[in-house]
Amino acid sequence: MDNTFMDGDRYDNLLSVVTGLYKEAGTPAELMKRFSTKMQSVSGVDSAIVKESSADSKRGNFEEFIFNTRKPYVDNSLSDYSAFPELIEYYNKGYKSCMVLPISAYDRKFGLLILLSKQEEAFGGNAISDAVVMAEAVGNAALFLSEKEKSVNLAKYFDAAFNAAVPQVLIDKNGNVVKANKGYANLFDYSVREAIGKSFANNFKLGEQEMKELFAGVPLNTRTVDGRLFAIRGSTVNERLTHLLIRDITEHENLERRLDTAQKSRNDVFIAMDRSFKITWISSNAAGVLGIIPEEVIGVNFTDMVKDGSGILAALAGAADKEYSANIRLSIGNGMNADMKAYLYRKDNSIYGVLSKEHERYFKELSSTFDQVIGISNDSIIRIDENGMITGVNKSFEKILKYTQEEVYGKPVTNMYGTADGQKLSSYISMAKKNGIVTDMFGNMHAKNSDELVPFKFSIKRINEGYSSNMSFLIIGTELATKTRMEDLENEIERRDREAQKYKAESDLKTQFINNISHDLKTPITNIKGFSKLLYKGEFGELNEDQKGYLKIIMDELDRLMNLIGQMLDVAKLSSGKVVLDLQQVNFNELLNNPSIKAFEEVCKAKGLYFRSHVDYDVPTIIADPNRLIQVLVNLIGNSVKFTESGGIEIIVKRVSKNSRYVRVTVKDTGIGIPREEKKKVFGKFFQVPHRDNLKMQEGAGTGLGLSITKEIVHLHGGKVGVESEPGKGSEFWFRMPFSAKVKKESKKQAPKDKVKE
Ligand code: ADP
Repeated sequence: MDNTFMDGDRYDNLLSVVTGLYKEAGTPAELMKRFSTKMQSVSGVDSAIVKESSADSKRGNFEEFIFNTRKPYVDNSLSDYSAFPELIEYYNKGYKSCMVLPISAYDRKFGLLILLSKQEEAFGGNAISDAVVMAEAVGNAALFLSEKEKSVNLAKYFDAAFNAAVPQVLIDKNGNVVKANKGYANLFDYSVREAIGKSFANNFKLGEQEMKELFAGVPLNTRTVDGRLFAIRGSTVNERLTHLLIRDITEHENLERRLDTAQKSRNDVFIAMDRSFKITWISSNAAGVLGIIPEEVIGVNFTDMVKDGSGILAALAGAADKEYSANIRLSIGNGMNADMKAYLYRKDNSIYGVLSKEHERYFKELSSTFDQVIGISNDSIIRIDENGMITGVNKSFEKILKYTQEEVYGKPVTNMYGTADGQKLSSYISMAKKNGIVTDMFGNMHAKNSDELVPFKFSIKRINEGYSSNMSFLIIGTELATKTRMEDLENEIERRDREAQKYKAESDLKTQFINNISHDLKTPITNIKGFSKLLYKGEFGELNEDQKGYLKIIMDELDRLMNLIGQMLDVAKLSSGKVVLDLQQVNFNELLNNPSIKAFEEVCKAKGLYFRSHVDYDVPTIIADPNRLIQVLVNLIGNSVKFTESGGIEIIVKRVSKNSRYVRVTVKDTGIGIPREEKKKVFGKFFQVPHRDNLKMQEGAGTGLGLSITKEIVHLHGGKVGVESEPGKGSEFWFRMPFSAKVKKESKKQAPKDKVKE
């Protein structure tokens, strides 16, 4: 061992080594890398490896075991009997001792520290406690670094949303502005800097009680001296800070009042038509005023309703952007007529109007209502044509995203969104095309000259553009305030965490139990087997034939025991969802020629059974985990052979149907079959059909785990299993899976993450 470890204030030294590493490293991964290099040089071992935590199934077993014990694992005489393939690997590389420590902090697992020596008995006493101190310190340092990474990202996000145009401030407990954005400063003609430190209450003339309510999260509407109406909403950031969002709703108020009046008027009916006078909208009071049902006249041609005074229509058809008024007589059904004054106005391809019993007053207002709704809205509104090209945007869009209408006109709207969101948007637009409206979607948009994305909640509405059959769409987006969005995210994360914890605790306990017990069982068995082998070979004196015979039985039974433990471990792993498939090209003809499957041919022959297999010509090479598929086939064929006494076994591989992209594999036997009521249960864990001739006692007795493993493996590939059977006639076990397993990319073999310094 190196002096660093032995001298004086050892722990201080150790900790200062870690502190040094922490300062140099920017991320947890970097820290781990530096740590392995450092351990190599200070600990004096032959090799120090830091293995980052990975989801790789082959590593999973060993790594899990170490994390579960939370203790250093020391093996001072490595051998090829170890229960962990990793340790055998090290032994084969010439190492004689090893010490493995978990690097973790609280619930976060960062990796394993593996120290290797070419000497036996290399790890004891100080070396162990030193390494424990180091690993623990590094675990904590890694946790700090990862928290730091997270908070930097959060801060960035917060700033991005704070820069948006909707006025926002952070105020302290006394109600003084600590941070303000441009939108807020603009309200009072300040610069952002001037806004800081001023009292929020003074600016809005709010009283003590109102401020209290704001702090408590109660939304507030307030009017400023110049008559504008603001909606303010507060939410607590932390003990000292409150985030306030301020919206100017003056225009909303006016518009609402106006539309409200329109709907309630007893004299005026408001109507909208396309250029060919087809009615596209009529106010709901049409029922009261005219005695017609609004829904029934939508789509009706207004010309057909006009009995007298169609001159106005001819005039309108001829000129755009003009207003006309005339007395007309309308046919309102059942032979009834209504005399009205019509004020009609044509704007581009639409015609708006008031059919009035008396006044002219609404006309001006109404003519521009539709544009106004869009123009003054606090929401960002984009109009696009059928091909997704932008044909217009409103002021709020320009304000929030900093682009002018000219800059985005004619551009694909998907360009405005992040890549993934853009793709989603396209599918939402197709939905809107079909259904008329899609609401409550989320998406992030690009602002001009900025890398940050602005989050929006948005709806898409289809509008039929008058005279032609062309459609257009309005994308109406509400910019999400930082705080609300963060809260939503945090709540969601918390909820999922809780859920995950619940499941995890349960499955962890089981997996941990089975892992530990399997390891504890495997080690002595490997030893028993090793010594039996030596005995059998005569290394401790020649044995007579009888003795050899019994020893052979012991060894076979050990194999069975190992197999059982292996299966238990497999079930635990598969049901904990930690298994990752090793996907490769699989050709079924080759697969069926695998020795483990070929071996059944001999077994069948010995039992007097036929053994056939057939792969249809149109079954392609599929993407799957070949070793797992063999496991499945061995399970199914093994069962068939076990439960069949005459006849035989047939394996059939074909497509599910002619053009299907699924393959179906059937293992068919002429054996004892399965009673109908047990068919559903055979895929469960530890289940065995209580057969009359009590096979459990025979040589072929199983564990009741085979089919449950089979099911899990097939599911992992995105497939399904099933069985048809008739007692006394035979069983047909089948599974189907897609040509290409739908699994995560990581399942492809990865380059090892080991950082070996030798
Ligand atoms: P085991 O290790 O007992 O074979 P499995 O999960 O593979 O466990 O099978 C569960 C049970 O389903 C078996 O014990 C047996 O009762 C029944 N079974 C499975 N395959 C067949 C078959 N081909 N014919 C009749 N019974 C079967």
